[in-house]
Amino acid sequence: MLVVKKFGGTSVADKERIFNVARRCIEDYKKGNDVVVVLSAMGKMTDALLAQAKEINPNPPKREVDMLLTVGEQTSVALMSMAMDSLGVPSISLNAFQVAMHTTSAYGNARLKGIDTDRIRNELEARKIVIITGFQGIDKMDNYTTLGRGGSDTTAVALAAALKADQCEIYTDVDGVYTADPRYVKNARKLDEITYDEMLDLASLGAGVLHNRSVEMAKKYGVQLVVRSSLNTSEGTVVKEEVSMEKMLISGVASDKNTALISVIGLEDRPGVAFKLFHHLANHNINVDIILQSIGRDGTKDITFTVDEDNADETVEILERHRSGSLKCQKIELDKSVAKVSVVGAGMMSNPGVAAKMFEALYDVGVNIKMISTSEIRVTILIDEGFTNKAMNAVHDIFNLGEE
Ligand code: ADP
Ligand code: ASP
Ligand code: MG
Repeated sequence: MLVVKKFGGTSVADKERIFNVARRCIEDYKKGNDVVVVLSAMGKMTDALLAQAKEINPNPPKREVDMLLTVGEQTSVALMSMAMDSLGVPSISLNAFQVAMHTTSAYGNARLKGIDTDRIRNELEARKIVIITGFQGIDKMDNYTTLGRGGSDTTAVALAAALKADQCEIYTDVDGVYTADPRYVKNARKLDEITYDEMLDLASLGAGVLHNRSVEMAKKYGVQLVVRSSLNTSEGTVVKEEVSMEKMLISGVASDKNTALISVIGLEDRPGVAFKLFHHLANHNINVDIILQSIGRDGTKDITFTVDEDNADETVEILERHRSGSLKCQKIELDKSVAKVSVVGAGMMSNPGVAAKMFEALYDVGVNIKMISTSEIRVTILIDEGFTNKAMNAVHDIFNLGEE
């Protein structure tokens, strides 16, 4: 059997944890399995490297940021291989260049295009545990790229798909996927299983337990995932196409503080204005999330939308650049102290009361709603960031998600 095992930052944060992971992998190896291990950078090393970059240059070139960040994952894999060596088991560490993990050139947010598997297969054939850097890739000019924060999950799923692995296990610092982030929602409950679609929505809406692109890829290639703890042996959560239980009304609540609200006020009220605005942003690879347009008044209208907070300053700069040309407006406002809170569930499709109930929960705790966006299986609201935990707990409780 071929197993891909991914361990996140907290799971390899220090010497003891590195040995803990080494032993878990060796256990699998000794059963006769082929073992591919994907690692994140130790603890908060990626954050530390980013802070170091900002100290030198507040606006560092994106290529060089990725060059720097690859060091994090490279440190973990080398140390892991040393740990395995000291336990008497043959292994080899490989980075994205040595494997050849091909990506686009979108530094900081690159997409995997293909993985060469020959080297990995040869090393497995030689009965080594193969330890691979998560999160990083190379583009067609051999520049290092990274896949976006949390991207090691995507490396693991992509490897599982490319190697046609029998199992893909994502080890982390919680026991599995919960109905809400257990760090902030005290009644959060662990789910035994969840569908790709629900997990994809939760991940995209801020449930950082899995990188959303890893779920997208798992669905596309039919890779069944298990999310479980690296610190104990409890069962974890299976992420797959269909779940055996009856569909739950709500599978979970997620929040995302990495959100900024941008209002473009007093735009001309004529065809093509929205097109131009979002076209400029798309040209710079900026993803826009919730969009609200006011009804036109006195020949003008306002367009308000959210972007990832990391992209907020760049977004405002782009809009300012076009203000004297194609995007005439009175004012551009930026608010970074907002958060999104979402409820997700496939059962929502046939139950019209969900949005109202969510709003009731917020009313009960006195939280004001700034924007609302809905799809067939989710409701998202935008609120002041300071109320996130209060709102999360209230929404989680009103749907009784803590109970089986
Ligand atoms: P890793 O370093 O292992 O990749 P992450 O920090 O990226 O770990 O993801 C695990 C964290 O995700 C947990 O510590 C938890 O606080 C957070 N999290 C957010 N939403 C959820 C959820 N619905 N279920 C479980 N964990 C969640
Ligand atoms: N080390 C990277 C990060 O902190 C990737 C990951 O952990 O998945 O975002
Ligand atoms: Mg992660």
